[in-house]
Amino acid sequence: MIIKDLVSNLSILVSLLFLYSQITKQKPLNRQSSINRKLTTGIVGGILGNILMQYSIHIDDAIIDLRHIPIMILAFYGGAIPAFISMILIMIGRLFLGINLATFCALALISLSTLGAVFFTCCTISTKNKIISCLSWNNFIFTIFAIYLIKEWNILLVLIPTYWIISYLGGFIGFYVINHLRSIQLLFEKYRNESTTDGLTGLNNYRNFDHLFNSLIKQVDAREEKLSLLYIDIDFFKKINDRYGHIKGDEILKKLGEILKKCTKSYDVVSRNGGEEFTVLLLDCPLEKAKEMAENIRKTVEAYPFYALEEEIHITVSIGIACYNETTIQAIDIIDDADRALYYAKNSGRNKVCIANHFPEKQDVLPYI
Ligand code: GH3
Ligand code: MG
Ligand code: MG
Repeated sequence: MIIKDLVSNLSILVSLLFLYSQITKQKPLNRQSSINRKLTTGIVGGILGNILMQYSIHIDDAIIDLRHIPIMILAFYGGAIPAFISMILIMIGRLFLGINLATFCALALISLSTLGAVFFTCCTISTKNKIISCLSWNNFIFTIFAIYLIKEWNILLVLIPTYWIISYLGGFIGFYVINHLRSIQLLFEKYRNESTTDGLTGLNNYRNFDHLFNSLIKQVDAREEKLSLLYIDIDFFKKINDRYGHIKGDEILKKLGEILKKCTKSYDVVSRNGGEEFTVLLLDCPLEKAKEMAENIRKTVEAYPFYALEEEIHITVSIGIACYNETTIQAIDIIDDADRALYYAKNSGRNKVCIANHFPEKQDVLPYI
């Protein structure tokens, strides 16, 4: 009976851990997570512990289950805060199950077990040793309280070894399940980031730019807002690569990404569309303001001192601007229009900002040299 109940407690623990990790789409908990995240996971751990208590084994007044395992998992991944929150909730839940000598022993057991978990998970020992230490410490205290509360040796002789085995099993299986699900979540997060982010600059990549652009043009159409696009290309970047090497070129691209972020608002969409071409989508931004921002970017880049081969070097950028609905009637056309304006900036001297459809009469936009 004891074995059957502990095994079913273990199954409930594993199923709930699985369920929890499936419903949390956020990044897995870690020691750097926000306080709010630690509080919520602590609460979830407390609820899980309370559910486990509902399926516990009753021997005399004692209630035996695997409630210590969620606390250990929380202490391991999230540190003291979620572990203690979960501990407090489990203690409150235990008080609701009746107050007697066994209750005080249970409260002492869960507090000592949590303190041990927080302590061992902070120690600089291997993960396996951390888990073994937490579980052994909990099992040891449990044994003392069990002997103190349950005086019948025939029960103790089955209960104590079974508890040790199931607690180790539950602990290792619990950690294995959580660890496995966390690595799936982390991989998913990593691939999702990689599919939308440019690896070198951390800006949006072309795919994400395209996705955001398509959703933005629907939005501006519906709300009749303005939308400006800056198309930015480094001037003579090939020469920089040829002279200072590709690695230095990459550093410059990265720095340019940072400059673009600094010169724009947090809600503007800054992307590296490929090679040495960047775009900035300025939300709800009229042409005049877009011109100001483009000019600011151009001047900031021109003035920024890059260093290569112990010499100070400067780069310049050419920028084409299009604005829906000032230079361009259809929002979808602002990419082509800004690109054409950029070509015009290149053709007419580089290191300048040009506005779409504002070229002097009869001047064709030829492919630039
Ligand atoms: P222009 O003023 O006409 O734009 O001249 P440009 O030399 O910048 O233009 P071009 O298109 O001829 O050359 C672009 C260069 O950008 C070629 C390539 O060496 C460099 N480039 C493209 N992608 C990368 C990259 O990821 N890293 C580095 N370091 N260089 C790159
Ligand atoms: Mg270029
Ligand atoms: Mg280019």
